[in-house]
Parts: sequence; C-alpha cells; structure tokens
Amino acid sequence: MTTRSHSRAVVREPASLDTLLARGGALAADPYHATTPPLYQTATFAQEDPTRFGEFDYTRTDNPTRRALEEQLASLEGALGALTYASGMAAVAACARLVKPGERLLAGADLYGGTQRFFESLEAFGVRVDYLESHDSRVMERALAAAPTRLVWLESPSNPLLEIVDLSAAAVHCARQGALLAVDGTATSPWLQRPLELGAALVVHSATKLLAGHGDVTAGVVATRDEALLRELAARRNAEGTALAPFEAWLLQRGLRTLSLRLERQQRTAELLAERLAQHPAVACVRFPGLLAHPGAALHACQSRGPGQLLSFELRDPSRAAEVVTATQLFTTAVSFGGLTSSISLPTCMSHASVPSARKARAPLPAGLVRVSVGIEDVEDLWGDLQLALESACADSGTDARAHAPAAFG
Ligand SMILES: *Cc1c(COP(=O)(O)O)cnc(C)c1O
Repeated sequence: MTTRSHSRAVVREPASLDTLLARGGALAADPYHATTPPLYQTATFAQEDPTRFGEFDYTRTDNPTRRALEEQLASLEGALGALTYASGMAAVAACARLVKPGERLLAGADLYGGTQRFFESLEAFGVRVDYLESHDSRVMERALAAAPTRLVWLESPSNPLLEIVDLSAAAVHCARQGALLAVDGTATSPWLQRPLELGAALVVHSATKLLAGHGDVTAGVVATRDEALLRELAARRNAEGTALAPFEAWLLQRGLRTLSLRLERQQRTAELLAERLAQHPAVACVRFPGLLAHPGAALHACQSRGPGQLLSFELRDPSRAAEVVTATQLFTTAVSFGGLTSSISLPTCMSHASVPSARKARAPLPAGLVRVSVGIEDVEDLWGDLQLALESACADSGTDARAHAPAAFG
C-alpha cells in the first residue's frame, strides 16, 4: 500500500513538529502520487461485490482525506489516534458524553462559554457537573477526593482569563482517583503543548482556531492514547454522523502546514503587545502567560513551548471597554481567535454570553475584560491601532497617564 513517494517514516517519526506539520498527512495509497493530499469529495465508495467491503465504503464512517488528516493530528499530539468532528463543540460533546448519568464531571474554573453551556445541558440527563473554585492544584485534589469523578475538564491557558493549570499535577490527581483528564488545547495547539505527554487521557481542540488558522473552517479534534476510548468515540461518531466533512478536512490540512510559521509570528507579536499594554496608563492589568508578572508564567513555561497569541486586559475604567473595542480599526470585532487576522472582543457579551446565568453569578468575569487574538499583521500597525483606540476612548475619562505606576497583573 505504501509507495516510495510518500514514505510513512516521515509521518511516524518526524524530525520535529515543524517537519510533521509541513510534510505530514500524506495519503496511504494514492495511485497518482499527488504531492499534495487530494480531496476525496465523495459520500460512497464502490464495492467489488455486495458481500465484501473495501477499505472505505461510506464517508460518515471513514474517508481517505479525513483519515490522512487524523493520522497527521495523532502524530502531532503523540496519540494513538485522532478523530475529527464537524466543530470544536461536537468534539467537546463527544468527550463529555463519556460521562454517564449518575456520574460526575469536574470542570475547570474558567472555560469557553459554549463548553459551560453544553455541560449544563448534561445535568438534565443526570450528570453531576461541579466547577473548581480555582486552578490551585490542592483545590483540585480536594475537589477530586470529595466525590467519585469520571471526567475532569481543563483549559490551560484558560479562556478568557489566561489562567494556567498544572496539567501534570492534575493528571496525577486524576489517576489517583480513577478520573479521566481531558484538556481542551485550543489556545495552544500541539505545536506549543502536548497534554497527552503530560498525562491527560484526552486532548480536544476547536480546530476552527489555530489549527485551521484561516477563519474559513469549523472543525474539532479529539486525540487519545487509550485504545478503548478511541474505539468508543469512533463508534459513536459513526453512529451519530458528527465527523468532519472531507472538504473541511482538506482545508484544515492546508491550514496545518503553516501552523508553526503563523504561531511563531503571532506569539512574538503578542509578547510585544502585552508588554506595551502593561505599560499603558489606561490599562489596569494584562493577562498573558508570556509576561513575567503573570502568576502562572513559570508553570506555563514548564509545560508549553511558548505563550501563544491570545491575551486579555482590563481597563482602569471598565466602562470604556466597549468603546476601545469599537474604536480599533485593524482588529476585527469578532468572536473566535487563532486566525491570521487580529480580532478583539468583549467575552462577557460575545464568546462567553452563553455561560449559564447561575455560573455567571458565582464566578463572574471581570467587568470590561477585553480579549485580543493576535494575527500575523505588522506589530507596529497593530500597536498603533490599539494605542489610538485606548487614547480616544480614555481621552475624556479623567485617566491620567502620570498618576499610575506601570500596570502589573491584577
Ligand atoms: C471555540 C472553542 C470551542 C468550540 O469550538 P467550535 O469550533 O467553535 O465549535 C471549544 N473550546 C474552546 C477553548 C474554544 O475556544
């Protein structure tokens, strides 16, 4: 099956993640030796006879384009296998439903809004959903010891507060209590952080964000080293028909090839913007794990190769946050993150508007929190735009540039 033109050795044992991103994902058996994996945009595959199935029979079950992508993603994550879904939420849902009625799901203190909304919907099916009060490792240990838990769900850095969770410690606590650890790695991608190597049972992505990177695909990924989990997830995905469509798989693979180039530039720019924002008199605090003042900076550096391209900040006058967002010209006001172009948002009104109200009341996000997704534009253009927006929105608010010391993490 394997031909000389697409050596499997490159896929299975990459020299580095960069090489695997650029060269991985070849089709196992392409008769024409296409140098770019072709798109099999077909629903069915003809059988030689009615009693014998070929390698592929129906795209809901498996498709060559999607399989090539999944093999590449599995290698990137150091996983046994990866499954792709129609969206990040479909991937989240697939994992969360490993928790059966009567079992408990323990969720991180700060999570994507749609994830919290989905978790809440599980309560109607008898799943107990508890949230961690904080990401402190001892708090997690105590919460796990308090009741039997099937699944622990974490993001690090979390979204939108950019809090850092000790993933290795979490994996140890989970193993001790017989719980599965799932890490939503959307904000990092395997290029920065590989949760399975840190002991997680499952890693999940909204590939809509960094992995696809161009803002033109919605997709989700689940990867694991656990064969039984992989089989259970694959069987349900086939039964329910939630797999990623071939064209989206093909687009996602195209995006993946440049992940390291994009992210390298994006996080370098994010670092500069975070440093400058932290010095700006209108800014009360910047949340970015690349800043030394971030309380999780050292921990993040231990479990990740870089700070990523997502940051959030709070204004000294939170009532001006919407104005600042609106005043930017170069940053698109939009939900989502991780794309080539920079965007800016108010999570409370946008990505996290769907957080259940009881949860909002218990753990409110800071008023006026602004989230920035840094793209590949010129750093000085981006900074100029942010500076103008901050100045125009704060010009008449009485914020005095000289009255405040440089901002640190709040
Ligand atoms: C966007 C996002 C999701 C949901 O992914 P979709 O592709 O939008 O369905 C899940 N988790 C995190 C952390 C996200 O940012």
